[in-house]
Amino acid sequence: MFVDVAVIKIKSGNGGNGAVSFRREKYVAAGGPDGGDGGRGGDVIFKADDNLSTLIDFRYKRKFFAQNGQDGSSRRCTGKSGENIIVRVPKGTLVRDASDGRLLADISDDNEYVIAKGGKGGAGNQHFATSTRQCPRFAKMGVPGVELELKLELKLLADVGLLGFPNVGKSTLISVVSSAKPKIANYHFTTLSPSLGVVRIAEGSSFVIADIPGIIEGASEGAGLGHEFLRHIDRCRLLLHLVDASGSEGRDAVEDIKIINSELENYNSELSKRPQILVANKCDMASDEQLNALQNFADENGLKLFKTSAPISEGTDELMKYVASVLSTLPPIERYEVQPLPVIDENSEINKFTISHEDGVFVVDAPFLLKILATVDMEDYESLQYFQKVLTMSGIIDALRDAGINEGDLVNIFGFEFEFVE
Ligand code: GDP
Ligand code: MG
Repeated sequence: MFVDVAVIKIKSGNGGNGAVSFRREKYVAAGGPDGGDGGRGGDVIFKADDNLSTLIDFRYKRKFFAQNGQDGSSRRCTGKSGENIIVRVPKGTLVRDASDGRLLADISDDNEYVIAKGGKGGAGNQHFATSTRQCPRFAKMGVPGVELELKLELKLLADVGLLGFPNVGKSTLISVVSSAKPKIANYHFTTLSPSLGVVRIAEGSSFVIADIPGIIEGASEGAGLGHEFLRHIDRCRLLLHLVDASGSEGRDAVEDIKIINSELENYNSELSKRPQILVANKCDMASDEQLNALQNFADENGLKLFKTSAPISEGTDELMKYVASVLSTLPPIERYEVQPLPVIDENSEINKFTISHEDGVFVVDAPFLLKILATVDMEDYESLQYFQKVLTMSGIIDALRDAGINEGDLVNIFGFEFEFVE
């Protein structure tokens, strides 16, 4: 469960001031008030952009200010309104007020969300003339814009999954191409996760790459960690298949590709049809013969082959640029629908639970949770958030605290074990 977080400042435009002015015309001694109104300040609007999948651009640009409205002027001229500013974020971004964590918007659809409204323009003195006050020497000031510090949060889903046997160079590749290590979510759960890296090619072009350690022969039948990790690549849009081109561990690269692809096929035939790019790593140690064999295999199977030496970044930039260009032609990652929260009445008999402390593990017995547990996907961030809300709403989290739980202690709910995180 990885979450990308960014803190940014926004400000909507100030409204322009109303003008104080009096008509001046030839042969007219004292004209009436004709001060125009100030223009509206621009709004700060958030909108989803399907081409974005990380918040990394917000590390480079953190201030988003909409334009101020212009002041009014004589001859009843209204000041120009300030331009709105549109902040584009990846779909699924949560926008919070950084000062109190309040959720302001969940940008999961294509609507526009006005997060800070521009200030209204002030009225010019033309509006303030009355029969007893024919020369109002005042106008209204514009309303100032809203200034906010926002915290953006995004669950990172991997666009690109790395496949390959142990020691082919997957971790090395991620470490040289990714500029940012995303945060691990601070939730009540920690589970094994693949390591993710955020690759930034240019502004507006970044993607998430996931190392899937532990894919080994037999993984699709549940051997080793493979199966656990294969779940993480279910939604990847593209797979990078790494091999040790030099066969430095006595393996045959072409054989390895076939083995892993048949694992994929067994696990999920849909996944095996996902676009795949071959990466011949450890080229520095490979012979021409070995590279030719890989090239022939790639050609025969209509696959693109890149040659790299990950530790010295040889060939990796070119590969990442190609990956970005392929991703831009692929549909965005599918996100799961967020489930509605059940109604939980803490005082109802049905929602009773008990907590016991056995061998250092806090065991929660709550029959009503069984049905809910069955619908929760522990690998999925939103699903976990939902489950966590249920635990909080039903009073279980508070009860665990009362029972003396500490950060890192294990909780067991019907066999599902997780670490408690404050
Ligand atoms: P992973 O298990 O697939 O994540 O592989 P690692 O990234 O941990 O790499 C395994 C070993 O191979 C490490 O000692 C790396 O330094 C080495 N290695 C990775 N890429 C290359 C390469 O292109 N050339 C050479 N000579 N060694 C590499
Ligand atoms: Mg590794």
